Parts: sequence; C-alpha cells; structure tokens
Amino acid sequence: MQLRKLAVMGGTFDPVHYGHLVAAEGVRHEFQLEKVVFVPAGRPPHKTDHRISEAKHRLAMTTLAVASNPFFEVSDLEINRPGPSYTFDTVQEVYRRYRPEEVFFITGADAVLEILSWHRVQELLKRCCFIAATRPGHDLNNLKERLQELPPHLIARIVPLEVPALAISSSDIRRRVRAGKPIKYLLPEVVEEYIFIHGLYQQDLH
Ligand code: ATP
Ligand code: MG
Repeated sequence: MQLRKLAVMGGTFDPVHYGHLVAAEGVRHEFQLEKVVFVPAGRPPHKTDHRISEAKHRLAMTTLAVASNPFFEVSDLEINRPGPSYTFDTVQEVYRRYRPEEVFFITGADAVLEILSWHRVQELLKRCCFIAATRPGHDLNNLKERLQELPPHLIARIVPLEVPALAISSSDIRRRVRAGKPIKYLLPEVVEEYIFIHGLYQQDLH
C-alpha cells in the first residue's frame, strides 16, 4: 500500500529526548500522518564547529527511543551519505525510498527561520511542507509575524503548530550528564541507560 503522508524529523539527536518525541507525536496526530521518520544528521552543515557524538551512538539511541511507537521509525540515510547532508537531498531520498504522496518536515519553531537561508530553499518548499513545532521561549505569534515578511507562496508552506512545550534540549542534557545531575524523565529510560553504559557526554564536547 502506498503511503499517503509521511513526516521527516531531522536533528542531531545527541541525544534524542522527550521534546523531540512529543513534537513528532503531536504533528503525527494533527496531520494524520502514517509515518514519522527520524533522520539523525551525518555531518550537519550548521553544526560543523561542534564536535558531535559518533553517528552509531546517535542512531542507536534514536532507534531505542522510537521502538515503542508503531508510527515512528529511524533512517540512516543521512548518516550513510558522505559529506554534509542537505535537507533537500534528504527529502528527495525519502520520496524515492518510501514513495509517499506528501512529505512534511518537522522542525522546532526556533529553527524554522533559519530554513530560509538553506540550500535550494524554494525547491525544498515546493517538495515539502514545513511544520514549525513550538519550543519553549519561542512565541508562535512572533513566528507568524516574522513569516509575514515572506512571499505568500512560501508562507503557505510553513505551518506553525503548538505542541506541549517541553523545556528540554540535548545540550542541557549533555551538560547535566557532565555535571552529574539527573536526566531521568527528560528522555526515555532506554536512552538514559545507553548513555551511561557507553559513557557518553562525560567529556567536555562543547
Ligand atoms: P541542541 O541543544 O544540541 O541544539 P536540540 O535539543 O535542539 O539539541 P536537535 O537534534 O538539534 O536537538 O533538534 C532536532 C529538531 O527538534 C530541531 O528542529 C529542534 O528545533 C527540535 N526540538 C528540539 N527540542 C525541542 C523541544 N523541546 N520541543 C520542540 N522541538 C524541539
Ligand atoms: Mg538544536
């Protein structure tokens, strides 16, 4: 059976946390998606100045985190592609692999304005609709106002969506691990266990 609507959730996922999962589930329900594919970044073009954890760890943690949701899956398509990954190429590859009728791209409301500086943005917005999920500290009204500056055909392709706001970020989780503070209830227990078993985030990465 052909998939009708699929969303891509892109990110570094270093590590994946409940903010990502809640946003993805909220979007899935709201847009009646048949699948959400989490795509951990290989070498994110916007984060080249940071050291990020090995791809195999980020892939493993994301796989563990989504295992309990039948609508979620993980793809290694960016990780196994050499060089930096552009969202445009990822979206093309998702159309090729899954053959959906429509692709959505889920992003945090903070990241959405950055999109406009992305590689092949006009073509990208033609190929997929962006869903900007709320993130604490990022007012959706503010985003809507900023979007007014864009040409109308682009505004229509970026849809703001309010999801339960979780003030969780991967960088905060990494800092907490380093400082010996608890990360329990910020991310799935299986991911917490993985972090401790593999000794992740003990060193000062960034
Ligand atoms: P870092 O702190 O290292 O930047 P992060 O928590 O932002 O990590 P990413 O992997 O960069 O995690 O995020 C992937 C996507 O998920 C981005 O579009 C980001 O805006 C979104 N996102 C991250 N945290 C949340 C959250 N708490 N609520 C909603 N969206 C989020
Ligand atoms: Mg981020």
